[in-house]
Amino acid sequence: MAKIHIARNGKIIGEHDEHAVAALVALRQILPTDHWWKKGMTRWLPIGSTFNPPETRRPKPDNHLRYTCERCGTRFNEPVEQKSGSVLTELFYWICSPIAGGFYTAGRALSAKKHCPNCDSQQLRDEPW
Ligand SMILES: [Zn+2]
Repeated sequence: MAKIHIARNGKIIGEHDEHAVAALVALRQILPTDHWWKKGMTRWLPIGSTFNPPETRRPKPDNHLRYTCERCGTRFNEPVEQKSGSVLTELFYWICSPIAGGFYTAGRALSAKKHCPNCDSQQLRDEPW
């Protein structure tokens, strides 16, 4: 395992496994302005030019709301879902036969429509994150 030597302001401040360096940069234990060297290298190199902290995936700030209503412009994450049919009919089918009930429940889930919580419009723009 190759050890990497880290220097700050001309002084060696530690040595780490090569694969741990990027994580330590992310934790600010090692700074991009520090220098690193390992056996076989002819000179020290700046950390920032070699090791970059692993990028964390998260929604962009302007993109954290998934749905946009095309009618009133409201942005939201949880649309109001409206299913066709009724719970009573669903219950009735389930009592008659679990197979019929299963079909009815599946049909309702498939036909569920997403609505804007503000104006009840179905014209929503769905941005996949
Ligand atoms: Zn709306």
